[in-house]
Formats: sequence, C-alpha cells, structure tokens
Amino acid sequence: MSATRLWRIGLALLFALAAPASAGAQAADDEVAVYKREVDKAFTAWLQALWPDAEAAGISRKTFDANIKGLKLNWTLPHLVLPDPAVPGGPPLPKALAPKPIHQPEFDVPANYFDKNTLSVLATTGRGKLGQWSEQLAAMQNRYGVPASIVVAIWGRESGFGKAEMPFDALSAIATQGYMGRRPEVFRQEVIAALKILEDGNATRAEMRSSWAGAMGYTQFLPSDFEKYAVDFDGDGRRDIWNSVPDALGSTGNSLHSQGWDGKQTWGYEVTLPKGFDCTEQGPDKARPIAEWVKLGIARVKDRPFPEDKLQDTAFLVLPAGLKGPAFLATNNFSVLKLYNNSDVYALFVGHVADMIAANAPAEFAGDWQPVERLPRERIQRFQEALVAKGHDVGNVDGLAGFKTRRTIGIEEQKLGLPLSCYPNKTVVDAVLKQVGAAAAQ
Ligand code: CA
Repeated sequence: MSATRLWRIGLALLFALAAPASAGAQAADDEVAVYKREVDKAFTAWLQALWPDAEAAGISRKTFDANIKGLKLNWTLPHLVLPDPAVPGGPPLPKALAPKPIHQPEFDVPANYFDKNTLSVLATTGRGKLGQWSEQLAAMQNRYGVPASIVVAIWGRESGFGKAEMPFDALSAIATQGYMGRRPEVFRQEVIAALKILEDGNATRAEMRSSWAGAMGYTQFLPSDFEKYAVDFDGDGRRDIWNSVPDALGSTGNSLHSQGWDGKQTWGYEVTLPKGFDCTEQGPDKARPIAEWVKLGIARVKDRPFPEDKLQDTAFLVLPAGLKGPAFLATNNFSVLKLYNNSDVYALFVGHVADMIAANAPAEFAGDWQPVERLPRERIQRFQEALVAKGHDVGNVDGLAGFKTRRTIGIEEQKLGLPLSCYPNKTVVDAVLKQVGAAAAQ
C-alpha cells in the first residue's frame, strides 16, 4: 500500500470520526443556547415583577429602570441551582449544564484555619492600620464600644484590608442568587436593598462591586446589612463601605454594637481543662459564671488568673476540635462575632488576630492542635442525619462539625463506652451509622 493511499484512508477515517462528534458538539451548544435563552427571558420577567416591592421600599421608577433593564444573569457564579426545566413546559436542563457529581471535600480541620503565617501577616498589617487610622478608630471605639483591634481584624479577615478583588457587579450577582441561588427568598430581598443603596446615592453602580455571594466592600456587607448598619463615619454625606475606610470601620463597629457587643467584655479566654473533662458541656446554652468553671477545674493558660471583676460574668466553653485542640471560655461577644459569620473558627480567628494586634499575643495558642481523622463531608452529613434520627439536635445538617454536633458526638461516645473526644472520628461515626442502619432495617 502506497503512503498516499494510507494517508487518504487515514484522512477519511478522521473525517468519519470527527464529523459526528462536531455535529454532536454543535447540537449540545444549541441545546445550551436554547435553554439559557429561555431562562434569561424568565429572569427578565422575574426582575420586572420586583417593581411593586421596590416601589414600596421607596425606589423610584427611574432608578429601577436604569438598573434593572438589561440586567443579566451571571452564569459563572458558583453553587447555582439551575432550573429544570428552564421554565414550566420549557426545555430541560441540558446535560452540559447539569451539576457535576458533587465533589465534597473533606471538611477542613480547625488547625488549618489558624495558619501561623497567615495570622502573623494579618496581625502585622493590622498593627500598621491601627496606627494609620488611629484617630478614626478611637472615635469608632468611643462611639460603639467595640475595640479597634476587633474591627481591624474583621477588615483583614474579610477583604485583606481591601486588597481582595471584588470581581462582580453586586446587583447582577445578587439578582442571580435571587433567581437561581441556594437561598432565593433571602436574595430576592437583597435585590431590593441593593436598589435602595443606589436610590440613596451611597454608591454608583460601577462602585457597587461584590464577591460572588453578594458581600460588598471592605468588611463584606450584604445590602440588608448595609441598610441596617452602614454609617457615614467620615461625614461626607455618603455611606461608602467600598472606598471610605472610616465608613467601613464605623459601619462594622455599629453592626457589632447594634447586635449586642458588650464593651466591658473581651471575646474570650484560652483555657486548660482538667483531665477527663466532660466536653459535652460546650455551647452558648451551657454558659455559667466564670467562677463556676473555675470550680470545675478550668484555668486560664499560662497561669494567668481571670480578672477578679469578671468572675461573676457568664461564659461558655468553645472546643473547636473537641478535646483534640485548644479550649476557650467565650463571652457573649463571641456569639456577636458569629452573627457576622456563623462559625466558631471564624469568631475565634477574629478574636485571636485582635489579641495579636492589640496585645502582641503569639500566633500559636497555648494548647496544641492534635492530629485528627479527616472524614469526607458527605460522610459526616450522613452521620448527622443518623444523629437526628436518634433524636439529637446537631444544628445544621451540613457535614460541618459545629458545637451541637461536637457535643452530640461526646454523648454518643459516652453511651458507646468510647474514649471521649467530641470530634468526628471514624469509630463513633461507623458505630452510630451501624446502629441507625440496623434500627431502620428492623
Ligand atoms: Ca462617608
């Protein structure tokens, strides 16, 4: 066979293979285009239907039209819940857009949240900001009773002191979340609140940038947070959390103050537990006066006493890694920080960075993060479902180990005669899943 003939056969084969494939790809593209066109059309109608609520919120027809007309869904946002079909009776969700099998990573262990270098960089930069904005921060602290170090720590955590890129037009991101995000009802209201910000001239549309989740400005407010808590702290007549550092710092101070921050309290103390301490005693609903915790053998780390005048104040136990990591007694201020972001490690991170900024606290806690087993989030979620089936309150069934899940683990460990840890581990997870599976099979 000549080389030319071989070449021809090869070419013919190539065409034979390529043609249907490219036709298939073309058909898939068309399918996606048709689907998206239908969804986009329905989105436009959904936006227009917001008008009565917008009008009731004091938004003018001019502002509404200027910002809503031509507003596009942002198909690139993560975690969208695409409608299937596109509209009732419309084209189904194309395969090409179907959610990929959810790759649920192992949930991150608390130790990784407290990377020494990250903490040190934030604290060093934070101390610089504390000096640079000392006058405004003193005024903020004076007005709201929130320590400057706490507000600076939040600023660092939320946006790297404004360095984090805010890649999205806030209105488009928020409207997309309202139309096809995970919490549509919440974000439908956020669209109205975002329009109100524009109506009041606090920001131009071009300035109003956000994260994919619609959090805006230096300290990552949703529009409804802005409505409730943003203040004009530099006195220029605009509440501007995007460009004005004083406005962002003042707004954060006001938000914590309005949600119950107590200026006479710290956020909490790192403590040591006596051997064999019952870790199921953690959580804000199990708060007691510090003096009572002391009677139970809890002490501050590094032999420091609790302040004498704080002994009658109530505090609760926080064990982010159960008995496998540092322990803390937290005040209600810790709970206020959790309103900013509902996570123990978040509140602890902010409190700890603030201590590093204000008091030169070392990056490491006195207690060690011990090695813990890493379980897939999906497995922990099934474990939580099993705990709920057994009648426990584990908080959100989300594959994350919040304090209610952690202390429930302790209760089950006690029942099963296992060593007490109050932290997800294969032994307790397998035992509980087996029990519940056996009960279901009967
Ligand atoms: Ca201002």
